[in-house]
Amino acid sequence: MMAQADIQHRARKRFGQNFLQDQGIIHRIARAVHATDKDHIVEIGPGQGALTTDILAGGCQLDAIELDRDLIPILQQQFSEQPRFHLHQGDALTFDFSSLVKGEEKLRVVGNLPYNISTPLIFRLLDQHEMIQDMHFMLQLEVVNRLAASPGSKSYGRLSIMAQYYCDIHSLFEVPPEAFSPRPKVQSAIVRLTPYKQPPHPAKNIKTLQALLRTCFNQRRKTLRNSLKNDLSSDQMEALDINPSARPETLSLEQFVNMSNSIETSP
Ligand code: SAM
Repeated sequence: MMAQADIQHRARKRFGQNFLQDQGIIHRIARAVHATDKDHIVEIGPGQGALTTDILAGGCQLDAIELDRDLIPILQQQFSEQPRFHLHQGDALTFDFSSLVKGEEKLRVVGNLPYNISTPLIFRLLDQHEMIQDMHFMLQLEVVNRLAASPGSKSYGRLSIMAQYYCDIHSLFEVPPEAFSPRPKVQSAIVRLTPYKQPPHPAKNIKTLQALLRTCFNQRRKTLRNSLKNDLSSDQMEALDINPSARPETLSLEQFVNMSNSIETSP
């Protein structure tokens, strides 16, 4: 197996390459994932395999999706004697995750995500929650805070509500810039998202909920009465116990679902 030190690869900013180098943090992430021989892991952005080695040690099947063509031969060489490792060169934003699913199994998704694609990628994976057992991601702390945010906080918005619609969310631990090479400018954190078997507050039509959230949070400063004047009357809001003068960031997931269901059933 090729030693980490033998690898010559210059980190590329445009691929969001901040490689993990702190072995203590790498072990801690692998322990949090706890991959066993029953698991099918999908790693997004394996980079130089820093996390891959530790995760594979649990005996799992692992499919890795890496965009940077220059890293492919490095990874292939590093894991050439590892039959449970399968490498795919491609973009995780367009990759067909369903092509990896075998039978009834669910995928466990892991990644120290390139920060420039983390939010669109999470939205995309939420759309495919039915094939996912859980997700462990390294993200900017600010994005983890948004995922886990409660109504009324500054971080609360469309990402928080859609993630919390589908998943139970646990912010696990913070990771300082020194754990990476090169060092990012911001603090990072590990988060676990576990899709519910049934969402606790199901929407009659998910597309209506998504459109409602877009309308409300594209104009966060506006009251609900103003931003929803084409969708829902003040009377309809009041019937749901929602104040039409409130701003969207004060509403719970359940209240958004109630508004969405009311839009769906209004004539
Ligand atoms: N997992 C490695 C580690 O922890 O050291 C690398 C993490 S680095 C933050 C992000 C990785 O994602 C890089 O290897 C980068 O080339 C890769 N990447 C960037 N954009 C990607 C995309 N759209 N699809 C798949 N991989 C991508």
